[in-house]
Amino acid sequence: RLTEEKRNWAWAGNRENERVPPEIDPSKPSVARVYDFMIGGKDNFAVDREVAQKMLQIAPEAPYNGKANRAFLRRAVTYMAQEAGIRQFLDIGSGLPTVGNVHEVAHEVDPSIRVVYVDNDPIVLVHGRAILADNTTTTVVQADVREPESILENPEVRKFIDFREPVGLLFVAILHHLKDEDDPAGLAARFYEVLAPGSHVAISHFCNPGDRHPGASRLAVESERVFAENLGTGRFRTPEEIQGFFGDLELIEPGLVPPLDWRQDPETVAGILPPNRDLYHCIYAGVARKN
Ligand code: SAM
Repeated sequence: RLTEEKRNWAWAGNRENERVPPEIDPSKPSVARVYDFMIGGKDNFAVDREVAQKMLQIAPEAPYNGKANRAFLRRAVTYMAQEAGIRQFLDIGSGLPTVGNVHEVAHEVDPSIRVVYVDNDPIVLVHGRAILADNTTTTVVQADVREPESILENPEVRKFIDFREPVGLLFVAILHHLKDEDDPAGLAARFYEVLAPGSHVAISHFCNPGDRHPGASRLAVESERVFAENLGTGRFRTPEEIQGFFGDLELIEPGLVPPLDWRQDPETVAGILPPNRDLYHCIYAGVARKN
C-alpha cells in the first residue's frame, strides 16, 4: 500500500528532478541504490545506473546473482521462522524495500513475527518508514554495523527485539561492504555474543573461490576493481574467510554454498540459474545456529 509519505518521496527512478529529501545526495552513487537497480527496482538515480552499467559490462548476468541472493534470503527466513521457530529478526544492511521483504516472508509463517531493518543509508529509512507507516510488528533504524552498540543498545531495536529469546540475525550481502580493517569477523562476533541459544545467523557474501573456479576468480578480481573504483567498497573474499565470519556458530546443512544451492528449491533455481556458471561461484551463502 502506497502511503501519503511514500507518494511524496516517490521521486526516484527517472524522476530525479523531483523533490529529494535533504539527507540524500543524488550526485553520489550508493550501494543500496545500485543494488536496487540491479534487482529491477526504481529507487535509484542516474549516477547509480552508471555504476551498475559498468558492472554489467564485465558481468552482464550479474542481476542473476542479485536474484539468487534474494531467493536465498527468502528461504533462509522461511527456514528460521518455520523450522527453527524464530519469532524476531534483525536484518542488518537490509537495503531498499523490494519484492519479498523479510517481514512479508516471515509473516507468511506467523504475522506476529517482529522485524527490525537496519541500514546506514538514509534512503532506506525514508522508504522503509513510508511502507511501514502503520506496521506494529516491523520497524526501520538508521545505524552502522561498524558500531554494534549503536544497534544493540538502540531503544527502537530493544522495543522490538528481546535478546533473551532466539533471534534471526541477517547479514545478507552486507559484510562484503566492510573493509578488512573494519574487522568484519570481530564486528559479527560482537553481535553473536548477545544472541540467545537457538538464534540463527544468515550470511551471504561476494566470493573469490581462487583456483577451485578460475573463471569465477577472474570475474571476482575484475568486479572488485570496478566496485572499488566506483563505490569504494565491495570485497570478494575466499570461502574460508567468509566461513570465518560465522565464528564458532554451527553451520547447518548444506554449509557455505552458492545461494541457489542453499536448501535448493528446484522451481526457483530453474528461473534464476545464470547461463554463465562462473558467476555462480562469485557469491556464497550459509546459515548457522548458536547452540
Ligand atoms: N540485505 C539486502 C539483500 O541482500 O537483498 C540488501 C543488500 S545491499 C547489497 C547492502 C546494504 O548494506 C545496502 O543497503 C547498504 O546501504 C548497506 N550497508 C553497507 N554498509 C553498511 C554499514 N556499514 N552499516 C549498515 N548498512 C550498511
